[in-house]
Amino acid sequence: MIGVTVLGSTGSIGVSTLDVVGRHRDKYRVVALSANKQLERLFEQCVEFEPDYAVIGTQELALVLEKRLRESGIRNTQVLAGVEGLEAVASLPETDYVMAAIVGGAGLRPTLAAARSGKRILLANKEALVMSGDLFMQEVRDNKALLLPIDSEHNAIFQSMPPEQGRALVEIGVDKILLTASGGPFRETPVDALHSVTPEQAVAHPNWSMGKKISVDSATMMNKGLEVIEAHWLFGASAAQIQVVIHPQSVIHSLVQYVDGSVLAQLGNPDMRTPIAHALAWPERIASGVEHLDLFSVARLDFQEADMERFPCLKLAYQALNRGDSASAILNAANEVAVAGFLNHEIGFMEISNIIEETLNRLPIVAVPTIEAVFEVDQKARNIALELTREARVLH
Ligand code: NAD
Ligand code: MG
Repeated sequence: MIGVTVLGSTGSIGVSTLDVVGRHRDKYRVVALSANKQLERLFEQCVEFEPDYAVIGTQELALVLEKRLRESGIRNTQVLAGVEGLEAVASLPETDYVMAAIVGGAGLRPTLAAARSGKRILLANKEALVMSGDLFMQEVRDNKALLLPIDSEHNAIFQSMPPEQGRALVEIGVDKILLTASGGPFRETPVDALHSVTPEQAVAHPNWSMGKKISVDSATMMNKGLEVIEAHWLFGASAAQIQVVIHPQSVIHSLVQYVDGSVLAQLGNPDMRTPIAHALAWPERIASGVEHLDLFSVARLDFQEADMERFPCLKLAYQALNRGDSASAILNAANEVAVAGFLNHEIGFMEISNIIEETLNRLPIVAVPTIEAVFEVDQKARNIALELTREARVLH
């Protein structure tokens, strides 16, 4: 039996992961589950999967959860709290695979702990890699961890590449990575109207059902920007080798173009259980519960170039990748703060990119050789972005 720890089990990816794991109880056993605040959902998951550990955001919530579990006759689930609890369950000897599905920078420490313990990491938490790319990949290599992408695009790229990991793109004849994007809910909204779109409109994604933060990121296309940076670290591609392709149907999940003119792609219905099942079973295959793709009902596939003027966040992400060092960590931190401000109705949609750009302007770009240096930059960027959010709130 393979022991699986799911970090962020109450979120969109976490729930999909448990759906797949639940279909293969003969192969996988849940070692640990985690949530930040969603006690009720975590409690229900513990009743269903009886993990060895459950981790929740605070000591107070941990006490409540423990009481609920004992009252329900669940005796074998030990309850832990906070980031220490997350790091502990990510490193346990009985944990073989770690699904990293916490949203945002909060996932970095536990995901890094999984890398340091040499686990198979199923990486959904792209922000962790964007913040600390160099360091993170170093820990993966040094500790012989296995990093498998859950992001549907990167999973598609991985599937479209030769199986040996870690070879340079030029050695395997790869010319370019074509990263597909649906274009989000505002692909065709007139640019003038973007100023007044609401959080409710922004989180209504046309093809995917996801957590709120990534839904807003998809609407600004910062999600694609973060994915460009993610692809750089995962596959060793330069910014110039990664091209974003708008593909509104979300059927082709990304493509790899080779020097001989071949282009390989992975297709499927837009359902995250496919990449999750792929990474759980790799190099084998297991059923995921996803309906088979019906090409006749899809009927056509469209492609467009990405418009960097409409989506300034995408341009900022490319710039951050080209600048290197702390730029991506600043970009990510400012984005998290600005998106939270937008979701709280404090700032307008177009302020998100303004705040990120201004935060990048105000901070020097420095080397980030240690995890402490990453968190220092992260905190500074959050403080500035918070200040800018407050100023923008006055005008909003
Ligand atoms: P979500 O908001 O639905 O779930 C987030 C999970 O993280 C929850 O379990 C929550 O309790 C936990 N969490 C939040 N803040 C935390 C904190 N401070 N400490 C500990 N735990 C915390 O998000 P999601 O849509 O499932 O996305 C998770 C990650 O996967 C993100 O990094 C996202 O970019 C990535 N991803 C998601 C999708 C998708 O389809 N949802 C696709 C590709 C990548
Ligand atoms: Mg994606």
